[in-house]
Amino acid sequence: MDSFMEAQTQRAGELMERFIGQTLDFYENIKREDVFRKADGAAISRLLKKGIPQKGRPVDEVYREMMDDVYANTSLVQHPRCFACIPSPVSLFSWMGDVMTNAFDPHAGCVMNASAAGCIERELIRWMCGLAGYPKGCGGLFVSGGSMANLTALTAARDDRLTEAERALAVAYVSDQTHSSIAKGLHIIGFRADQVRKIPSDTNFCMDMETLRAAVRADLAAGRKPFAVIATAGTTNTGSVDPLPEIAEICRTYGMWMHVDGAFGASILLSSNERKRLDGIEYSDSLSWDAHKWLRQTYGCSMVLVRDQSHLVRSFAVHPEYLTDAGAFNEAPDFWDLGPELTRPARSLKLWITLQVMGSEAMGQMIDHGCAMARLTEELIRRYPGWEIVSPARLGIVNFRCAPVNIPPSRIDRLNQDIAREVTDSGYAQILTTELNGKRVLRMCTLHPETTEEDIRNTVRLLCESRAASMGQCRTA
Ligand SMILES: *Cc1c(COP(=O)(O)O)cnc(C)c1O
Repeated sequence: MDSFMEAQTQRAGELMERFIGQTLDFYENIKREDVFRKADGAAISRLLKKGIPQKGRPVDEVYREMMDDVYANTSLVQHPRCFACIPSPVSLFSWMGDVMTNAFDPHAGCVMNASAAGCIERELIRWMCGLAGYPKGCGGLFVSGGSMANLTALTAARDDRLTEAERALAVAYVSDQTHSSIAKGLHIIGFRADQVRKIPSDTNFCMDMETLRAAVRADLAAGRKPFAVIATAGTTNTGSVDPLPEIAEICRTYGMWMHVDGAFGASILLSSNERKRLDGIEYSDSLSWDAHKWLRQTYGCSMVLVRDQSHLVRSFAVHPEYLTDAGAFNEAPDFWDLGPELTRPARSLKLWITLQVMGSEAMGQMIDHGCAMARLTEELIRRYPGWEIVSPARLGIVNFRCAPVNIPPSRIDRLNQDIAREVTDSGYAQILTTELNGKRVLRMCTLHPETTEEDIRNTVRLLCESRAASMGQCRTA
């Protein structure tokens, strides 16, 4: 190493020591930060002007630029007043686990390279399968997110329920509330758009069972091959749970694979108050579950669980000559034989660390708190004249809108978008709209355990008394 690099390495160590303390301060005071933060044109052009230098630059300079122009311009999805999308209420223990795991960078594709980490991953999978009520023989693995979990499960469903000849005739059933990653996954594994049947949802935004039965019968009568129903446990829009026992029954009758997309909602299995909403999940063949949503993990932490692990092995095991020795290392299949990835980080360790420190009970109570904050939001909104609840609080999500009687419906969508924008721009809270029953609505997802009643009251007040909302109300008068 030349003397420049030596000096930079030493300096990097000093910077990292300071970084830990600064980051802890940042998290301690996060509520003082704006939730929504975005890079301005000047920051972007400063960064891009750097290009890739031929000769290295001092690490101090690079560190400063990264802090000021990149990290400071990142929206805070872990902020207790981020109510947009599905926020990520990250635990400091997950962050600690992430930093520690990154430092050692285990290769978690096989047990040979990360024996203890592999045991932890298996133990967590076993525990989570137990929460879902899966029988002996079940299994699964950690993947980067719900989209990858869905893709992995759908591949296993296809290979278990269809011969190659049947693939062209196959049909999978989703609802109009199913997450887009399902259609994307089905597309990636070779199904045409017309092989995905979108079943309308009922007034609670759950898949309508009569329509599902009729659709399956019609497809069979037409000589097609129904092979999978994708139920959602906690839809992204409204937190709705599809009727799992009935879907299981229909799947049993017609020999279809039942996949549950629990990317968002499966975490309520940890809450003694809420878990009954997922009754019937134990009949499913596979389940997706994001830990980087309600289990407080930093990104890239999700599980795909299957009631019979041999289905993953059949779809994903390959045996190249260069992995012979590594694969012979243990009895159970290696992780690279259970999913699409070969080299992979040890994603389970941070969740393990978080659960070891917090315990499962506190995790469950934190989920109850999120549900309570959505109920409080609903209760407060109901007090404002001209405002309506479009979907009541379910699993920490509530949808509502400002709809004064005398405003033409064509202007109400825009009005609600303006309200969301105004509050988001204020920096106090982040709120987005979504579409339900053809209407634009404000949506709040209140998962963070440090969101207080005061945060909710202030946010509702900002929405209901925003300039956009008062102008809307004025026009009524
Ligand atoms: C978030 C979500 C997904 C996608 O998960 P990613 O981790 O973003 O890939 C899939 N399904 C549901 C129901 C979700 O809420």
